[in-house]
Amino acid sequence: MINVTVWNECRRQLDNPAVTGFYPQGIHQAVIDGIAAADLHLTAALLDDAECGLPQDLLNQTDVLVWWGHIAHHEVPDELVYRIRDRVWNGMGLVVLHSGHYSKIFQLLNGTSCRLHWREANEKERIWCIDPTHPVAEGLPETFTLKHEETYGEPFMIAPDGHTVFQSWFKGGETFRSGVALQRENGRIFYFQPGHESCPSLLDENVLKIIGNAVRWCAGSSKKPYPEMCIPKAFENDGV
Ligand code: ZN
Repeated sequence: MINVTVWNECRRQLDNPAVTGFYPQGIHQAVIDGIAAADLHLTAALLDDAECGLPQDLLNQTDVLVWWGHIAHHEVPDELVYRIRDRVWNGMGLVVLHSGHYSKIFQLLNGTSCRLHWREANEKERIWCIDPTHPVAEGLPETFTLKHEETYGEPFMIAPDGHTVFQSWFKGGETFRSGVALQRENGRIFYFQPGHESCPSLLDENVLKIIGNAVRWCAGSSKKPYPEMCIPKAFENDGV
């Protein structure tokens, strides 16, 4: 069983008809309902919950943290960001959706500003799977479209060691590395771009399959103990 915590800032969502039309119970609940499966134990966590939804005991039990944030990144305390970082370093997986690219935790672990080109044109996006051998691409078609998404485009200041699994094209002409796998110490991270709050992408079958795959891939290192660090011993002189 994989323990998955789906964190959502949940600001201007439940009182915004543009959002509730697609996500009446919030984006976190749409993700939870959309990826629900027998091997996943799913818990919602919200910014307005106690300890911003992520007390240490919940973080310690979490194998994979899914993150959706947009307008309230600055409200996540630095102290919590460091505790999440430490859990990732020790093996917790992290799946960052859409505007979470600007979250403090993704900027910190990715190691750059995570800036990108964007505009709200509500236009068609075509997603290409460019590494069908990657576990996050399991069962996905070579390409699929979303009728309406926020446009994200290159340049995307994602770390150069990120492995691109999905690449997108938008009707306005932009291209974007929309699905990127990273590893930081023992923890796997997957960034996935669809999921603007006023677009129905998080109800799309292929998008949800990718998020579920990403959760399972990111869980892959969560139960392995990280090796104890110590002052290295000198290697024995074998007489050579
Ligand atoms: Zn957006």
